[in-house]
Amino acid sequence: MKILVLNCGSSSLKYQLIDMDGEKVLAKGLVERIGIEGSRIKHTKTGLDAVTREVPFPDHSAAIKYVLDILVDPEFGVLKSLDELGATGHRIVHGGEKFTKSVLVTPEVVKGIEEVIPLAPLHNPANLMGLKAVMDVLPDKPNVVVFDTAFHQTMPPKAYIYGIPYEYYEKDRIRRYGFHGTSHGYVAHRAAEILGKDIKDLKIVTCHLGNGSSITAVDGGKCVDTSMGMGTGEGLLMGTRSGNVDPLVMITLMEKLGDAEKVSEVVHKKSGLLGVSGVSSDLRDVEEAAEKGCERSKIAQDILITGVKKYIASYAAEMGGVDVVVFTAGIGENGITFREAVCKDMEFMGIKFDAEKNNCRGKEVVISAPDSKVTVMVVPTDEEMAIARDTKKCVEEAGK
Ligand code: AMP
Repeated sequence: MKILVLNCGSSSLKYQLIDMDGEKVLAKGLVERIGIEGSRIKHTKTGLDAVTREVPFPDHSAAIKYVLDILVDPEFGVLKSLDELGATGHRIVHGGEKFTKSVLVTPEVVKGIEEVIPLAPLHNPANLMGLKAVMDVLPDKPNVVVFDTAFHQTMPPKAYIYGIPYEYYEKDRIRRYGFHGTSHGYVAHRAAEILGKDIKDLKIVTCHLGNGSSITAVDGGKCVDTSMGMGTGEGLLMGTRSGNVDPLVMITLMEKLGDAEKVSEVVHKKSGLLGVSGVSSDLRDVEEAAEKGCERSKIAQDILITGVKKYIASYAAEMGGVDVVVFTAGIGENGITFREAVCKDMEFMGIKFDAEKNNCRGKEVVISAPDSKVTVMVVPTDEEMAIARDTKKCVEEAGK
């Protein structure tokens, strides 16, 4: 079965066409600036150089039509006709409490995604635009939706209820949902597979560290806690997001700036590595500046390192131990000095690090010593493959 995986942002669209027979990526691409002047598409057919074209895309529907055309193009395409396409898998950021797993799209499912828009006002409408455009252009092909929040729906109330009056949970659904669930689920399962162990027998802490970062406690294959919350700002310090702050900080900023939108701009877009260092939201730049003596960059770097250490140790305490720690995403897969700094002085909890094995980027590798009680690994994430697998499973289960 050939599956198209789509990830739609408000003005962008990422796609991959995957042949599930052998799990091969046949083509992938990115459409940017949809609805904005200067829109363009970058398309790569596996084995060929990427091609970039400037094309006016007034909306997602136009972009999707173009993507489908290029997939059957005699030169850059990978399909003879769209009949070869088995299904489309869509990344949906928020599934609220309604969606605990990936599902085949029906009119009720679309309604359900619309109902949780208030919880993800920036992301869900964009995701829905992509879904509706595909339903429009390919009305006879099945669609599956895969939610970033679904993996975290197994958390117990003690992990997802905030310590505010319970009625805010009951009436307004204010609770911790967690994000990057597709990635956490994928790397946890992959880690167990690489180690040749049953995930049911493992306590795993997965560290998805990129521009946005979150850490998850996975006990026996199920998420029991995660660092992101109702939105994507809770937990660790990130590229431009503050992570955890005292409520008084928010109240003070509210009084100072006088408007929720401005406070949101500060804590989501001007904080984190960028806000503290004053240099960049990219850890590579911050590390370089710290190396050259920039004090604020050193502080920013240390906040993130300490934050990751705290979550690993606290999730180990919560699960009554930890067998595996997994690093993934941009920083987790590539940050050699960062990983070393996190794992340093963690022998007290059974982490014995191997600096030589750690000297690698973007590969599946164990970076702890053979006699380390806790296995530390790098597992590159592959959210598209995880979406494609779920899509295939849902379509097959439905007998489509
Ligand atoms: P992602 O959001 O997963 O694409 O991750 C992007 C982030 O990964 C960038 O903002 C960088 O901070 C980080 N990153 C990428 N390469 C490296 C590296 N070699 N060392 C440290 N951080 C890196």
